[in-house]
Amino acid sequence: MPTPDFLSALLRPELAELHAYTPVAGHFPVRLDANESPPLLSAEARAALARAAAPEDWGRYPDARVVELREAIAARCGVEPDEVLAGVGSDEVISILLTALSRPRPGADAASIVTTSPTFVMYKLSARARGMRAVEVPLDAGWDLDVAGLARAVEFARPSVVFIASPNNPTGALASADRLEAVIAKASDALVIVDEAYIDFAPRDQLALVRKHPNVAVLRTLSKIGLASLRVGWLVGDRALVAELDKVRQPYNLPVPSQRAATFALRELGGELRRAAAFIAEERERLARGLTELGLSVAPSHANFLWVGTRRPAGEVFEALAARGVLVRSFHGAGGRLAHRLRITVGLREENDRLLAEIAACA
Ligand code: PMP
Repeated sequence: MPTPDFLSALLRPELAELHAYTPVAGHFPVRLDANESPPLLSAEARAALARAAAPEDWGRYPDARVVELREAIAARCGVEPDEVLAGVGSDEVISILLTALSRPRPGADAASIVTTSPTFVMYKLSARARGMRAVEVPLDAGWDLDVAGLARAVEFARPSVVFIASPNNPTGALASADRLEAVIAKASDALVIVDEAYIDFAPRDQLALVRKHPNVAVLRTLSKIGLASLRVGWLVGDRALVAELDKVRQPYNLPVPSQRAATFALRELGGELRRAAAFIAEERERLARGLTELGLSVAPSHANFLWVGTRRPAGEVFEALAARGVLVRSFHGAGGRLAHRLRITVGLREENDRLLAEIAACA
């Protein structure tokens, strides 16, 4: 669609290089493409969530200060409510962060972020949409942080924010603790965001870094543990940072049903959500064994998905699976070492079995 001239003159030039995020449309009996949780919540939990979500008064705005939900998050994370900023998914928290921190360093014409490659695309998209530069440092051959490369990028780009997803999307790897510490030390005058979207599937978390380093904040979300429909994510960080970010947050960002259901889930459904995450972690290992037995290479994962090496080009395997009703995620468009990789979300047992049966025929 051609952009009218007057509009082209008004748009940020960076938008020309961006694409709207559009998940693959169509009907796929098995969808293992979006790192969501399969339906594991009990009927009782679903009914209780629906009751909890309903507003008392449909005509009123939500709580602008998100008091109860931030209290529930703080209790779950062992921090204080004023150390928590809640957003419409961690996506919104990322955009709030970048809006607040888009000031160019002295002598630079634009602010920068540094992150890894491959990683979650929203860091770069959100930064570019604000005219910020995004410097991506390739992960090493084992999909771990390249400390020397990141140190050089930090020195050269003088980023305002460094984003490290750990466990990382799409590779599933938890960053080595010593490497993450080394990156934080190198980026001591930037804000380092440790994105723990997948931490419920990992053997250890990194929240202690927030207390240890004043320049570290952690991102978390309810999206991967069965509550993606609510769009609730949050940042845990220094209260001075949270107070500044709160100036950028839209006052009524989180709808009443999301605030109420998320608060209920955090307070009352902890055990059930933990059991669901443990089931996914077990299924992940079973699926990994099955794929390995088929001769595919599977990177160790601490998330709710697997990073799978294919013999045939990943794009072809993706298409063949889709034609058989199984949707996964391919990154072959990026080329290089991603041309033979698929990201496969762990599903229900029968979905994983179906994936194994179909991929055996086409990978
Ligand atoms: N961070 C990472 C690393 C992710 O993979 C995702 C989801 N794909 C998000 C954040 C965004 O999650 P949310 O649904 O909370 O916006």
